[in-house]
Amino acid sequence: MQIADRRHARRRGTEETHMKLIDPILEFHDELKAIRRAIHANPELSYEEAQTADLVAQKLTGWGIPVIRGLGKTGVVGVIRRGNSARAVGLRADMDALPLQEHNSFSHKSRNDGKMHACGHDGHTAMLLGAAHYLAVHGNFDGTVYVIFQPAEEGGGGAKAMMDDGLFEQCPMEAVFGMHNWPNAKAGCLGVVPGPMMASSNEFELVIDGKGSHAAQPHLSIDPVMVAVQIAQSWQTIVSRNTSPLDSAVLSITQIHTGSATNIVPDSASMIGTVRTFTLPVLDMIERRMREIAEHTAAAFGASVAFKFLRNYPPLINHKPETEFAIGVMKDVVGDSGVLVDVEPTMGSEDFAFMLQQKPGCYVFIGNGDGTHREHGHGLGPCNLHNPSYDFNDELLPIGASYWVRLAEQFLAQPPLR
Ligand SMILES: [Zn+2]
Ligand SMILES: [Zn+2]
Repeated sequence: MQIADRRHARRRGTEETHMKLIDPILEFHDELKAIRRAIHANPELSYEEAQTADLVAQKLTGWGIPVIRGLGKTGVVGVIRRGNSARAVGLRADMDALPLQEHNSFSHKSRNDGKMHACGHDGHTAMLLGAAHYLAVHGNFDGTVYVIFQPAEEGGGGAKAMMDDGLFEQCPMEAVFGMHNWPNAKAGCLGVVPGPMMASSNEFELVIDGKGSHAAQPHLSIDPVMVAVQIAQSWQTIVSRNTSPLDSAVLSITQIHTGSATNIVPDSASMIGTVRTFTLPVLDMIERRMREIAEHTAAAFGASVAFKFLRNYPPLINHKPETEFAIGVMKDVVGDSGVLVDVEPTMGSEDFAFMLQQKPGCYVFIGNGDGTHREHGHGLGPCNLHNPSYDFNDELLPIGASYWVRLAEQFLAQPPLR
């Protein structure tokens, strides 16, 4: 089948951008909007995405796409094959919602108390379904496109769970690509950061064991409050004195707990917090220095410590050839002026980073606009990620779906990138 292209001039105020969206996808916009809103109205938390996964699998099956289920518990993969090439590429969306009470009252608001699609994963799922539908019906490629719908992006590491269940063995692919909506960037623009784009996310807990006493007899104690204060101060020198000024890192102590009365020196204290970095060497160094400072400072005061450092998500690092390729596709779809390549990296984190540790690929942002797209009855808060007044912008559905289609078709049409 012939792929029809049409130039779309979209006017907003004095701004005009030219988009080359795919006609059959534009004709499918109302259906995608209905799917997106149905998912929005029925949000499910990490690893509980049973209805969402059923909806995704039913749509794919209905369009003649074989599905693999059960990877990462609720994950779904659609396998779209054409021709006889052994080459393959993966496109990934996420399906989970957040434990948040929605403040919007429009008709597609959450029907599940305390749960909300406040990160736009409803939109990510709908955009990838739009691409799958087009590729199944009109797809002009030779090879396999895997459309990956993962669970539990919000802290549950659903990408890793799918990989641990054999995603890349069952679905061998050359590269994998991801996309996330980005509020306050112009609606429909596409952005990317070559190299490190999102930070690693890590948690720590330090327990200091001292010796309690009457507060009027401090000489009989080993005061864990003083030890905690010294360690907290010294840890702040890790970013300022041990990290290269050209690297970025965050070390935030977010809780210090100890004590029960004004006249008691407590016998222990604890501190917890988070560390963010864009590279693993910087992360390794920070973990090592935190441990050294804690152990040696405690020893200097006669106290002892137990230090736990938990690595959640690694840094998300875009691969160079795949990023250059993706930028070319982005320009084809939204025009040169619609592509932002100087986006600031963010200290937020994203579990697609696990996939990029095993496979080459690239993760991009799609602008969600300033919130004026929201329907009457939206909450009074800003249209920001994880805000109870957020809503995904349905205008992005054909744009994101067109990007996915062009990305897959062009990836399989050109010689391998590596
Ligand atoms: Zn989120
Ligand atoms: Zn998200």
